[in-house]
Amino acid sequence: MVETIFKRLVIIGPGLIGGSIARAAKEYGGIAETVVVSTRSQKTLDRVAELGFADVCELDPAKAVAGADCVILCAPVGTYAALAERIAPALMPGAVLSDVGSTKQSVVRDIGPFVPAGVHFVPAHPVAGTEFSGPDSGFASLFQGRWCILTPPAGTDETAVQKLEALWRRTGALTARMDAAHHDRVLAIVSHLPHLIAFTICGTADDLADETRQEVLQFAASGFRDFTRIAASDPEMWRDIFLNNKDALLEMLARFSEDAQAMARAVRWGDTAYIEDKINRSRKIRQSLIELKQA
Ligand code: NAP
Repeated sequence: MVETIFKRLVIIGPGLIGGSIARAAKEYGGIAETVVVSTRSQKTLDRVAELGFADVCELDPAKAVAGADCVILCAPVGTYAALAERIAPALMPGAVLSDVGSTKQSVVRDIGPFVPAGVHFVPAHPVAGTEFSGPDSGFASLFQGRWCILTPPAGTDETAVQKLEALWRRTGALTARMDAAHHDRVLAIVSHLPHLIAFTICGTADDLADETRQEVLQFAASGFRDFTRIAASDPEMWRDIFLNNKDALLEMLARFSEDAQAMARAVRWGDTAYIEDKINRSRKIRQSLIELKQA
């Protein structure tokens, strides 16, 4: 039998991300001897039991984490403060407490104050996903070749960080370390702003007059379709991400708005060089993604 990194791994929030970690632990082995899943609704917990990616299903998060050496919060980031407060007294000394939240300064702010002495808090964010949510949407290979960014606060126990890195590598992910504030600025431009634009453009299309809206759907393959895929993401999760990365998101949105205005001006005045330069720079970004195998 392969030696596992952890004995008892607890996933709180078995949706796309939590369900994928649990499945990877079961299917690939070497991550944990026992996978425990907890969530807020009995209905979802029953579905997890049916799907069979947990060894133990427990509705009460405090009971779920008792005796666990690794706990990963996988619910929307807006739930983390209350969850951390709830589980803190039951956490075992020496345990690694982590999360998968898409914003990292808010996670440090919300979970940090509740972490008991002797528990190692190592925030993380797997940069992988689809537009689907819930326990049925997860799959073991979701993290293969994708990055997982760890943002351990200064002074975090190095062994704990390395154990969490080892867990992510066993799921097939590549790992990187970053400061939480830097993470939030980077993710604001690569993920949060594109989602904000997708939700906005879908709203704009929906506000159009009836006959035009019909044609938007009919001819969606000309570009709109790609925005609708991103815009199909879970509303609770994205509401929480926007509100918990407000400063960086608004900064990137202001920059984007300035650049969009500059493009509008170039279109108005027929500035072909400006327009071509912008499109060529975008094509290069796409090419770089393909070369980095992140396309
Ligand atoms: P999801 O599929 O909607 O799953 C969320 C899960 O959390 C559900 O199982 C839900 O269970 C549970 N939950 C909600 N509130 C809870 C609470 N108060 N206590 C316990 N469980 C609760 O979401 P996801 O896409 O996996 O995202 C989860 C986290 O991963 C978020 O923090 C998000 O920022 C982060 N993330 C997402 C992506 C992505 O692309 N989707 C990528 C990287 C990171 P019920 O059915 O019982 O409500």
